[in-house]
Amino acid sequence: MGRIIAIANQKGGVGKTTTAINLSSCLAEAGKKVLVIDMDPQGNCTSGFGLNKNEIENTVYELILEQCSLHQCMYDVEGLDALKIIPSNVNLAGAEIELLDVENEREYILKNEIDYVRDDYDFIIIDCPPSLNLLTVNALTTADSVLVPIQCEYYALEGISQLMHTIDLVKNRLNDKLKIEGVVFTMYDARTNLSSDVVNNVKENLNTTIYQTIIPRNVRLAEAPSHGLPINLYDSKSAGAESYRNLAKEVIERKDR
Ligand code: ATP
Ligand code: MG
Repeated sequence: MGRIIAIANQKGGVGKTTTAINLSSCLAEAGKKVLVIDMDPQGNCTSGFGLNKNEIENTVYELILEQCSLHQCMYDVEGLDALKIIPSNVNLAGAEIELLDVENEREYILKNEIDYVRDDYDFIIIDCPPSLNLLTVNALTTADSVLVPIQCEYYALEGISQLMHTIDLVKNRLNDKLKIEGVVFTMYDARTNLSSDVVNNVKENLNTTIYQTIIPRNVRLAEAPSHGLPINLYDSKSAGAESYRNLAKEVIERKDR
């Protein structure tokens, strides 16, 4: 059965989208069938895979408002035959308010759709927006687990207890199978003590699974989205590509356990 992983942290700019794009493409490179869902109105995951977010007709917005079918909003990505994406764009910002009018199961709208295809994929990766809103709740009710990117910087732990509390709430009230997949450190700078201090501090204070793979700060990872390419297609030999391949391997091994 397909494994659904939401990538969430309400803190902005910590590497959620970079992880969603590159973990997904490295899973596909490893031979897995992958569906990526962009749940962020910023649409960075969509454009990071080379889709023109402003010209796409059917997105996750149309899907959750029942204006298109699931298959009408699933797009191919050039160079990655095993991967499909449900894109998003700024229209999704309106869905938050429109969903408030939905009386039945508004926390489960995405789940009720994705259930139809979950067995067609090995992994479904959901990129969440930087907030704990109804879009994120929809992602968390759909998911089996949450992967939390943490940026190696001074305020890394800020907001993490709130995120863990939200995950617990969703688990208790809406999705009892939800687990924490693990924490992954991003933008690690080996030249500074700060990065290693943050890693040690989080390890001491956060009682949760932590991936061994640490994503370094790597300029190729920052450049790749402007070319609309995941890192393994943009610069296959870069440190960034290697690190996301290692993360994909760990994620696969955890699944097989
Ligand atoms: P948001 O909360 O706005 O959705 P996010 O958590 O999805 O942000 P990203 O968009 O992945 O974060 O990353 C923020 C910025 O940092 C981007 O410009 C991205 O290219 C850059 N970045 C992310 N990871 C790395 C890395 N390992 N090395 C260098 N730059 C990175
Ligand atoms: Mg993002």
